[in-house]
Amino acid sequence: MPRTPSSVRDRARKIKLLLLDLDGVLTDGGIVIDGTGDEFKRFDVRDGHGIRLLQRAGIRLGIISGRAAKAARHRARDLDVELFFQGVDDKLAVYEKIKRMTKLTDQEIAYVGDDMVDLPVLRRVGLAVAIADGWQDLKQHVHYTTRLAGGRGAVREVIELLLKSQNKWKEVTAKYYRS
Ligand SMILES: [Mg+2]
Repeated sequence: MPRTPSSVRDRARKIKLLLLDLDGVLTDGGIVIDGTGDEFKRFDVRDGHGIRLLQRAGIRLGIISGRAAKAARHRARDLDVELFFQGVDDKLAVYEKIKRMTKLTDQEIAYVGDDMVDLPVLRRVGLAVAIADGWQDLKQHVHYTTRLAGGRGAVREVIELLLKSQNKWKEVTAKYYRS
């Protein structure tokens, strides 16, 4: 695996809040709709565990999703997501609201997105991340593009990057190495 550039690790070191888009980031972007109109989404259990590790390390977490779906709310509740916004038309407005709520600066926030609706926020944050199989043009506007796909470990990859850059990885995973 190629080494992550030091400029990316320098940015990752400052991050106190990780913000995620949902569809195409925590999922592969697919939405399954049944005959009654109920929506189904597929999440990755290793992304979920990564989120636990992130929380254990004291890094805050938020989701800003354009769509509103019950499945998304359930998953956010499962994972104790602190800042959860869905049905969002203007992601930048929500981003500014989160900044006011948390009193964090752009440099302390990372955002992961997969499509053009994420661009306004990606252009602001200290660490902007695009998804490997997302909208291709997004990659020229970010600091880092994941190697893994949306809903297939991309979020876990970003979390590992944050925790390793901040020297927190060993501490939050130590219990799994004890014999
Ligand atoms: Mg998306």
